[in-house]
Amino acid sequence: MYVEMRNIYKQYGNFRASDNVSFGIEKGKLAALLGPSGSGKTTLLRMIAGLENPNAGDIFIDGNRVNDIPAAKREIGFVFQSYALFRYMTVYDNIAFGLKVQKADKTYIKKRVTELIELIGLKGLEKRYPSQLSGGQRQRVGIARALAVEPKFIMCDEPISALDVSIQAQVVNLLIKLQREMGLTYLFISHDLSMVKHISDRVGVMYLGSFVELASNEVLYSSPKHPYTQALISAIPEADPDYESQKEKTKLEGEVPSPLNPPSGCKFRTRCKYATERCAQEPPVFREVEPDHFVACHLFDKDGEK
Ligand code: ADP
Ligand code: MG
Repeated sequence: MYVEMRNIYKQYGNFRASDNVSFGIEKGKLAALLGPSGSGKTTLLRMIAGLENPNAGDIFIDGNRVNDIPAAKREIGFVFQSYALFRYMTVYDNIAFGLKVQKADKTYIKKRVTELIELIGLKGLEKRYPSQLSGGQRQRVGIARALAVEPKFIMCDEPISALDVSIQAQVVNLLIKLQREMGLTYLFISHDLSMVKHISDRVGVMYLGSFVELASNEVLYSSPKHPYTQALISAIPEADPDYESQKEKTKLEGEVPSPLNPPSGCKFRTRCKYATERCAQEPPVFREVEPDHFVACHLFDKDGEK
């Protein structure tokens, strides 16, 4: 595994934002996280980046435990939801920022930034300020800035959700092109189920701080097992004559419960049509129910009991 989290817990006061999360990404692959707002996706990324510390658990990058390594030394690129550029710096200076912090050689900085500007298709716009760019161009600068220091691992937190729909594909295509050309490993958060299906190798689904399902892209989209994942996947519009009836079958009732007062046992049970007494008492274990397919649900416990 290139990046691995083992038994991660993160507590904010009484509230648990990460509840025993274990998760790994192989080198050169793109892993995506799905899950409702507030399920703890951004918190996981911030812990991998070193912007937050877990209360318990270990984080490994390329085989090394990084819990005690400061953010600046973890060699991770971070592309945020809103472009988060320095408004008073030009395109050039925004991209050069990380290299200057590292005190890289001036000639090298010039060469690297020029190369990146070409790569993201913004040649000629070096001297512009963020306010003189379109949303898509700003996000390209954000991507170049993340890549400048040559990280091998890139995390993207909803990198396109603030962009106009018409340019979302361009930015995603740029990210994928860079991944292939540079052999990068990605962790991607998105609400766009179709996009995730299109770009990822592996998909994890979170709900109230825990993983409920993790599998390869193909398996997750073609045979989701957890009732929450089934509801998510069935909400993707498709040119399927049975779509409406299918959707009816897995329609999800109610809202995500307050994370401050999560349900006992399985945190999804209040919205699950299969919930039984056992689900209220015993939290399901996140386990491998088929090779490389992990699910946290009593429906898939080996003894067949509910
Ligand atoms: P997601 O990215 O899946 O929407 P987040 O990881 O941002 O979820 O947040 C998970 C939960 O942790 C949310 O309920 C959020 O309010 C809470 N949270 C995040 N950061 C903090 C913080 N610094 N202090 C207190 N609560 C936080
Ligand atoms: Mg988030």
